[in-house]
Amino acid sequence: MKIHEYQARDLFFKYGIPVPNHVLCHTVKEVEQAMDKIDHLVVVKAQVLVGGRGKAGGVKLAKNKAEAVQAAKQILGMDIKGCTVEKIIIADAADIAKEYYVGLINDRNSKSVALMVSAEGGVEIEEVAKTNPELIHKFHINPQTGLLDFQARNMAMKLFKDVKLARKAADIFQKLYRIFRDTDSTLAEINPMVLTPDNEILAIDGKMNFDDNALYRQPELLAIREVDEDEQKEIDAKEKGLSYIKLDGNIGCMVNGAGLAMATMDMIKLYGGNPANFLDIGGSSNPQKVVDAMNILLSDKNVEAVMINIFGGITRCDDVARGLITALETIKTEIPIVVRLSGTNAAEGLALIKQTGLPTVSTMSEAAQKAIELSKR
Ligand code: GDP
Ligand code: MN
Repeated sequence: MKIHEYQARDLFFKYGIPVPNHVLCHTVKEVEQAMDKIDHLVVVKAQVLVGGRGKAGGVKLAKNKAEAVQAAKQILGMDIKGCTVEKIIIADAADIAKEYYVGLINDRNSKSVALMVSAEGGVEIEEVAKTNPELIHKFHINPQTGLLDFQARNMAMKLFKDVKLARKAADIFQKLYRIFRDTDSTLAEINPMVLTPDNEILAIDGKMNFDDNALYRQPELLAIREVDEDEQKEIDAKEKGLSYIKLDGNIGCMVNGAGLAMATMDMIKLYGGNPANFLDIGGSSNPQKVVDAMNILLSDKNVEAVMINIFGGITRCDDVARGLITALETIKTEIPIVVRLSGTNAAEGLALIKQTGLPTVSTMSEAAQKAIELSKR
């Protein structure tokens, strides 16, 4: 789950991270009203769940009401990476001497949360990581101790020679870690964290992601959740008893069991293809699940071939076959489908599939290769 910048700012404020004031606005009228009470430099910022707003023209400084209104007119309704801007904030503008990057991520390689800081802030950190990885400083936090004072200060000293400034930055790192831990976050970024000419350190942008599987114990986050189209599909799938995660490839996968689903994705990768999703239909033999799964798969415009890989245990292959036949009676599709059934009632299942004319194969590697081949036609 993601949240908007203004929501991240609210969280920062709640935990005592210095952050300029802001007003949330949905209309130009609201901007006019907000600006009646403000007589200093502000920054008008698009609130969308994607980054790179600055480059896209979604962040504009305004000296007065007229300029703020003009900026709001330009930004409201703007399209940024496929997201329409429906909300903006008017934030007190920070006077910036220098921009820094601060981030906490779930680092799977070290099985810990990594604190990353860089004096190359403001820009996209992924670029810095590619071109100048030595400019990003990383520290792995021990979950049992948390981020200790001296550890936070050591990291802050990589950005600030002045001890007073380093202490202020260290305090921000520790507070950000507290938010990260308290909210079951998977990513918490302040980019940029800025130094002002009068030696204040402020967070002027915030990005936070949260672990969907922990939302059950984060009622405050659930209450503000806004889902995009892909996430909505994943939620709908969950309600139907399917585990579905959308990915960027073009081979749709329908598999029973999480382990087999992972192996199927690996197999597709091995032969040079790209899976469009992870989809585990689970261990029951309910044909309706197959119908639901096919509907989800085929609604993804990137899918150019479907690989069905079923290992029959409790799930019976002939039930899956019947589900598939029912699904294809209702969903008319030109997209090629490859079926591999193995295990309980595989022979019966394959006999049913053969009647439909769909290609059947006997091994996983054949299925992957065939699906990739068909996706290229
Ligand atoms: P992003 O492009 O979506 O990451 O949006 P940011 O909030 O990070 O803003 C992009 C850039 O706009 C920052 O790196 C700053 O250079 C500039 N900017 C944002 N807010 C302010 C501000 O309050 N004052 C000034 N002077 N510049 C700002
Ligand atoms: Mn930013």
